[in-house]
Amino acid sequence: MTPVDPTQPYDDQNIFAKILRGELPCTKVYEDDWAFAFLDINPQAPEHILVLPRGAYVSWDDFSMRASAEEIAGFVRAIGTIARDKGLVEPGYRAIANIGPDSGQIVPHLHVHICGGRPLGRMIPE
Ligand code: 5GP
Repeated sequence: MTPVDPTQPYDDQNIFAKILRGELPCTKVYEDDWAFAFLDINPQAPEHILVLPRGAYVSWDDFSMRASAEEIAGFVRAIGTIARDKGLVEPGYRAIANIGPDSGQIVPHLHVHICGGRPLGRMIPE
């Protein structure tokens, strides 16, 4: 897939926009007014959940610039709630947001990966 250019405008035909609108299926794990979460189709750990803000944001950069304080608080709280509900706090987990080409971001709707369920090793592979 083509890496995301985080400086481009939001494309409402991206895969996650379609999942948010219910046009494509997913295995939902959580939703509230600010966030929507589902299982990653290609899990990298026993628990691999994608958490999306409901609003149309390309990346963390876009979100941190344009989102309201309410949206930011709601989204960040949702990430914590999901990890807690999944029992990941005590064993530990990783929350990752890829932003742009060097990160490997492939879907241009902000998503935070929650990964856990086993020791995850070094943060960034050599
Ligand atoms: P990124 O590299 O953009 O941070 O991560 C995108 C993630 O979305 C990848 O981990 C990939 O497996 C996942 N993904 C891509 N397409 C789909 C899809 O149609 N459904 C689900 N559930 N996950 C997807």
